Amino acid sequence: MIYQRSSALFQEAQNFIPGGVNSPVRAFKSVGGTPIFMKKAQGAYLYDEDGRSYIDYINSWGPMILGHTHPKVLEAVSLQLEKGFSFGTPTELEVEIAKFITENVPNVDKIRMVNSGTEACMSAIRLARGFTRRDKIIKFEGCYHGHSDSFLIKAGSGAITFGNPNSPGVTQGTAKDTLLAIYNDITSVKNLFENNPEEIAAVIIEPIAGNMGCIVPEPGFMEELRRICTENGALLIFDEVMTGFRLGFEGAQKALNIDADLVCYGKIIGGGFPVGAFAGRSEIMEHLAPIGPVYQAGTLSGNPIAMRAGLTTLSILHEDLKLYERINETTKILHEEISSLLSEKGIAHTVNRFGSMISFFFGDHKVKNFDDAQKADHGVFNQFFHHLLKEGIYLPPSGYETWFISDSIGNEEIEKTLEAVNTFEI
Ligand code: PMP
Repeated sequence: MIYQRSSALFQEAQNFIPGGVNSPVRAFKSVGGTPIFMKKAQGAYLYDEDGRSYIDYINSWGPMILGHTHPKVLEAVSLQLEKGFSFGTPTELEVEIAKFITENVPNVDKIRMVNSGTEACMSAIRLARGFTRRDKIIKFEGCYHGHSDSFLIKAGSGAITFGNPNSPGVTQGTAKDTLLAIYNDITSVKNLFENNPEEIAAVIIEPIAGNMGCIVPEPGFMEELRRICTENGALLIFDEVMTGFRLGFEGAQKALNIDADLVCYGKIIGGGFPVGAFAGRSEIMEHLAPIGPVYQAGTLSGNPIAMRAGLTTLSILHEDLKLYERINETTKILHEEISSLLSEKGIAHTVNRFGSMISFFFGDHKVKNFDDAQKADHGVFNQFFHHLLKEGIYLPPSGYETWFISDSIGNEEIEKTLEAVNTFEI
């Protein structure tokens, strides 16, 4: 059996870790089969416990935009390690990274570091509520903003109704303050504002959605959303945990030409270490403790190792802005070539792509919201996933995810990927 050691480890893991994993998607529940236990990563490749290698199209779900163990990041982190792991005090490094980000990203005067994307979004919502003195928020079906209670809400009967929690443990009291809209459907947003006048603190959105597969906003949708938020005194929060520093250094705000009031970060900002951040204009950010009334804190926030990895990664991106052209071009080639191979085989599919984010949906309908993503043929996706895995290509193990292209993926990796797709049959 090719995944022998992974299988054995997964068996053992289940005795000690719920479901054998520390984050559910890693369990391969959606695609079936044994999750692969990785041992090492370098450049474009992951290496598993059975001695196999894989071209990595997940890149730790986005952070490893440079590829794995980039020599400059490795060196910077190693030097930093010698100076201490965590101080629990302010450091010059925190000032450096905050200055670097706020000087280079639009509409961001101040930034607060946290430890994950979940914390970033959770804190941004609290700040928006504290700032506007309103309770309700709007999120979009299929968008993921981490696992804090307010975000684990699915649609009730239509977007106008209050949401129901979709995880036991989330109280009805919390759920009633999260209203659900439909991505790319501005009427669903307008209805919520009409039915909840002066009650909505914020609208949070993935500006390019990545958690129902990649879904791109249709022309005019984001502009209207911005207008409606301003008109109603609600903050527009861009969850750029995936898109931040991936769609270009200035993120989705620049790529879509939309100003957000608050922006959440994660993934790339930590260069592969556990980091999140939220940022915005001074007038909003100064509502935070210790100068304002909205409380937010963290023992390891601004951790020097994570800050050094993040700052080094961001500096590399900033010095070599052509990197974005390269990864976007790689993504475009993958899109066009995989798509033409699938078409030759008569396999119906739709591709959504923006920058270096891309998803393949099987079926021939357009995918512009969560409903459309659910209608895709996930059975075919699962076959596609397992075929490529066998051939040493590591895709996200679910049809509701986005592939993240790194700068380490070059012609050789593209060719190997296309050869593997070429032998796919359904
Ligand atoms: N927001 C978005 C858009 C995300 O993709 C994710 C994680 N995939 C999160 C928030 C939560 O981040 P974390 O897993 O670091 O808590």
